[in-house]
Amino acid sequence: MTLNRKKERNIGFPVPKGPIERAKVISGGTYQCAIYALQNDISMNIAGGTHHAFKDKVESFCVFNDMAIASMLLLHHKLANKILFVDLDVHQGNGNANIFKNDPRVFTFSLHAENNYQQRKEKSDLDIGVADKIEDEVYLKILYNTLPVHIESEKPDLIFCQSGVDILETGKLGRLSVSIKACKKSDHFLLEQCFKNNIPIVVTMEGGYSVKISDIIEAHANTYRAVQYIFF
Ligand SMILES: [Zn+2]
Repeated sequence: MTLNRKKERNIGFPVPKGPIERAKVISGGTYQCAIYALQNDISMNIAGGTHHAFKDKVESFCVFNDMAIASMLLLHHKLANKILFVDLDVHQGNGNANIFKNDPRVFTFSLHAENNYQQRKEKSDLDIGVADKIEDEVYLKILYNTLPVHIESEKPDLIFCQSGVDILETGKLGRLSVSIKACKKSDHFLLEQCFKNNIPIVVTMEGGYSVKISDIIEAHANTYRAVQYIFF
């Protein structure tokens, strides 16, 4: 695979062979996570969540869309009939939305900052674009009111969660002001819903742009802590 300069500009940095190989490994990892989750309820890819990659377009640090590739393989091999994407990154999951826009087997839900990148958003099955500097309680209430309804209506065989932590108030690119505590509560809520309803879940990471790297690590580590608390 080769990339011309225009495609590299869309990604945000030049892409030599190494990162392309890395993206392939990450996609393979997310698929393996999905297989594992179907057997053991939960799995996590410490990378992945490259939700800005389209079928034919790389964008914003995302070379291949790992969750979309894994979903297509699961559907192709009839390992799942219905998949729900829960995208909690501050940026809209535009690649996911575009790839599955005409595919009723995959329901794409994106909870993101309305005024954030991208200016021209794709259309997910459900988009909730929240206002800048949203308060914790309001943010959580949206998730609490939305997620169970769609788990109930879609009855997914598997959930892919993009748990980017660029929603944090300390984030440089987020525009939101969600605290680490609320971010943790949102992880707990989603994971509890999966546990309670026996729905396997794959969690991927991605976004996190806080000035202090320790904030990003703490928020990501909280997702792992929540998994340990709920599933083990
Ligand atoms: Zn993001």
